[in-house]
Amino acid sequence: MSLINTKKMFEKAYKGGYSIGAFNISDLEQLQGVLRACKEKNSAVIIQASKSAIEYAGINTLVAMVKAASDEIGVDCALHLDHGPNFEMAKKCIDAGFTSVMIDGSHLDYEENVAITKEVVEYAHSKNVSVEAELGVLAGTEDDVTSDVHKFTDPDQAVDFVNRTGVDSLAIAIGTSHGAFKFKGEAKLRFDILESIQAKLPNYPIVLHGASAVDQEIVATANKFGGDIAGAKGIPVEMLRKASSMAVCKINMDTDLRLAMTASMRKFMAENPSQFDPRKYLGAGRDAIQAVVSEKIDIVLGSKDSL
Ligand SMILES: [Zn+2]
Repeated sequence: MSLINTKKMFEKAYKGGYSIGAFNISDLEQLQGVLRACKEKNSAVIIQASKSAIEYAGINTLVAMVKAASDEIGVDCALHLDHGPNFEMAKKCIDAGFTSVMIDGSHLDYEENVAITKEVVEYAHSKNVSVEAELGVLAGTEDDVTSDVHKFTDPDQAVDFVNRTGVDSLAIAIGTSHGAFKFKGEAKLRFDILESIQAKLPNYPIVLHGASAVDQEIVATANKFGGDIAGAKGIPVEMLRKASSMAVCKINMDTDLRLAMTASMRKFMAENPSQFDPRKYLGAGRDAIQAVVSEKIDIVLGSKDSL
């Protein structure tokens, strides 16, 4: 087993009409939960870490841990930098052993986004590493960056961007958002934009960020056992499944895993007040991650037997 880039994964996913799940991790239990689910479902997977997760866990610890867990559990996976803020961070991850990086220049002027993406692509491709970029702006909060409004991706600009940068995949804004509070009213995704991009960039892998479904039962469990998570609302799973059957080849889900882990650990601790072995409550969190990822593979991604 080894860490692989996303090229073949995306080719197969595009042809097969499914998506690869990209799950954020920052510790051992999350990592094992995700990989165990993928082993059980025989599913391809992308493990990703943001800048703040890397700061939390330590870059070399993360790389070594993902390599070792991939080997021990028996699932080839990509290790991807989520929302790389600049060239230096992307280079640092590539040099440390990441097999895929995102350079997020979506908040920059268009020409600056093109320039920084091109710079990362040149370096990454020389090391056989895949690159994801972003065009358009998602509402919500991701690490240090917050936006109140969506700025939907312009399909013609997407074509120009891909041609000029040579980037391997593109995250687009069609109405998904970061965090647990995605919609005030009805959920709405701009499938017309996705269709237009698919028509103009045939066979090109598209990425959706901010695509957690925010299961109300899990939120209720967290709140029942002392949590205070109000008004959380995510993307309906049917919409995500539809996107997976189109050009979307990678779907990022972070919030759903955080909620599942938190709810199960709160429940475990409330029900076992005398227990103080961390393996017991962290283990409950790990099982919850495994269960939620298995469910995503079946009902959102469609990636069962894609390994
Ligand atoms: Zn994101």
